[in-house]
Amino acid sequence: MIQSATFKLTLWYLGIIMVLSVLFSAALYNESTSQLDAGVGNQRASIARLPLPREFEPRRTAFLEDLDAQLSDAHQKILLRLVALNMLTLALGGAASYMLARRTLRPIEDALEAQGRFTADASHELRTPLTAMRTEIEVSLRQKELSSTEARELLTSNLEEIAKLESLSAGLLRLARSDGGLDPAAVTEVPVTEIFSEATRRFQVLINQRDVTLDVTAGDETVSGDRDSLIELIALLLDNAIKYSPTGSSIALTSQASGGFVRLAVADHGIGIAASDLPHIFDRFYRADRSRSKDKIEGYGLGLSIVKRIVDLHQGTIHAESEPDKGTTFRIKLPTHHAPKKAQALLAA
Ligand code: ADP
Repeated sequence: MIQSATFKLTLWYLGIIMVLSVLFSAALYNESTSQLDAGVGNQRASIARLPLPREFEPRRTAFLEDLDAQLSDAHQKILLRLVALNMLTLALGGAASYMLARRTLRPIEDALEAQGRFTADASHELRTPLTAMRTEIEVSLRQKELSSTEARELLTSNLEEIAKLESLSAGLLRLARSDGGLDPAAVTEVPVTEIFSEATRRFQVLINQRDVTLDVTAGDETVSGDRDSLIELIALLLDNAIKYSPTGSSIALTSQASGGFVRLAVADHGIGIAASDLPHIFDRFYRADRSRSKDKIEGYGLGLSIVKRIVDLHQGTIHAESEPDKGTTFRIKLPTHHAPKKAQALLAA
């Protein structure tokens, strides 16, 4: 598909170049031959007017005929040079058009590749719980009799897999929606205290269960943006902070305003992230090996890519500082005022 698009675009570019080149050549030919004709015409007229004795008449005629021949020869030479110039333009323009077409289409090619990878990763992740459910059901069906305890176990396990599928599809949906952009109409001044309190409210049960100490420091600063997305942003970071920290540890949410920016931080004392994983954690479906294997912490590697997307949409920046077994701090810098670019709603799940 990209190849045929490159070919078509090359032809278009080359067509434009050649039309311009031919038009320019035609104008040049017209201008130079008319100047030549005018100059030779004047000369011809003066010679024709010269009062010469009769015996010189044949020589004058021969001279004028020679002049005409030279003029037509000059016309031909100009034409040939312009044709050669256009051939050269065709060859060089062809190469330049191809390079330009490749360069124009490269971002689209990259986006298509990323989309293909995303679809493959998403279907792989969606298949895993489905395969688990299918295997469990098949094994149970092979048994002659199924006790009610076994049936209960099967259904409970199936429910767990369904919950995973729900969480995965919710993540995918959030990503797809956030790809649309930020709705300028949804942008308001949101107090940071409100963002923090709404995000922590979602995890209150888990915070109590895991005996997490939460330190929240925020003043009266506000962030301009989409309220639901900003809450989602902190909620996703808080979810990770709780998920990747041991029971009884402490998490800090802080906010500070300075120079037209609000700096938010989510800091934990959890398992941390290896330096080799840090550059990839915002990639879709990326999970550090430690979180995959060690204590089998559930996740799909989508949370941080949603976080990054929300920060980008708010024209902010985010980076993580981490030390394995010491903890992780995510620092976000958001402008207090910004002009959202695209007009489509970013809906929180
Ligand atoms: P996941 O669903 O796996 O948590 P995320 O996109 O939210 O996906 O995070 C990507 C990876 O980054 C995680 O798998 C984990 O390895 C690492 N990570 C994110 N947040 C933290 C944290 N607070 N502490 C330790 N590791 C983290």
